[in-house]
Amino acid sequence: MYRGFALKEVFLETTHACNQRCRYCYLPDVGRSFKDELTTDEYKHLIIKLANEAKTVYLTFTGGEFFSRPDAIELLQAAEENNFCFSILTNGTLIDERTADALKEVMPFKIRVTLFAPDEDIHDNFTRLKGSYRSAVNGIRFLSERGIPVSITYPITSIANIEHFKAMGDLANSMGAVLEIGDRILPSRDKTCRKSILSYQLSQESYPLLNKWAEDYLRERNDCYLSEKDLEEKNRERLEKSITRLPCGAGVDTLAINPVGDIAACPMFLSEKIIGNIRKDDIIRLWDEAPFLKTLRSYDPAKRDKACKTCGVQDTCHVCVAQSYIENKDIYAPSIALCEEAKWMKEVKEYEKTLH
Ligand code: SF4
Ligand code: SF4
Repeated sequence: MYRGFALKEVFLETTHACNQRCRYCYLPDVGRSFKDELTTDEYKHLIIKLANEAKTVYLTFTGGEFFSRPDAIELLQAAEENNFCFSILTNGTLIDERTADALKEVMPFKIRVTLFAPDEDIHDNFTRLKGSYRSAVNGIRFLSERGIPVSITYPITSIANIEHFKAMGDLANSMGAVLEIGDRILPSRDKTCRKSILSYQLSQESYPLLNKWAEDYLRERNDCYLSEKDLEEKNRERLEKSITRLPCGAGVDTLAINPVGDIAACPMFLSEKIIGNIRKDDIIRLWDEAPFLKTLRSYDPAKRDKACKTCGVQDTCHVCVAQSYIENKDIYAPSIALCEEAKWMKEVKEYEKTLH
């Protein structure tokens, strides 16, 4: 294995099948299950290989909807038998009492259930699946009752208002779940990203309210609370100590694998830059030798600065090399989706200042 770069984490995007059709989903082809998805045995083989040869420690099981795979529990058992720390991203609707009992046996590190609003009608309208709110909330309760660590992932979208934030906090508390707030909408994983990223973004007036509420909420519950500024500082320190200058772990300590075994540096890269396939390539060799991973590991921020030197909103840009690649086939080129988001965020920050 390549010295200095350990494959710590693998995202297993096990299916694109999903019972919901959320108004915003970063998978452009959600609901289309592949004919030749990896089989149970292929996943087991992969899990054993990752444990024994790559010494990977962390797996994330996701979809589509992970629990729409009939072998979901069997895959988790394989992860547990091979001593993985693993989490699951799910819409929660398929977690009944029997599934929760089975999950207790394998004890995931965390199950993250997405809710779009603390309100049945709004949530169901967003997921376009009647009854999805009730099923998801029941699923969260079944998990919590069994002592399984569960969090509500709340992607804050244009449908949210300050009353929703508070109600979502209360809902999480009442069920013993941790609330995780996503204040950014990820671009859809294809070239329609421009439209999708801003159309569901929280309004500029609501954003400062959310920020303030989230800060108070988190500070109250968490002794180790770090403000946005603290986090920036920590990230800067991390990058200074790191052997790479890439702002994320794509291809540095992470890989992602789609339902048919295609391998990429992270889930976003799965749409545009496949580096191999587990059915025909040795994943360990790819990790050591794939030229594209070497390109990512030798990322040079100065090249980005050069490409973006006149934009004036660099301080609010969430640089994402995968997004740049999806749009331009170049990890250094400015991304239209990111530029629009950065300009939007700059305006929010300016507006925020007028409130003080
Ligand atoms: S539940 Fe997740 S995968 Fe399914 S449509 Fe919604 S966002 Fe997409
Ligand atoms: S991607 Fe766009 S917003 Fe971000 S730093 Fe480059 S030019 Fe500026």
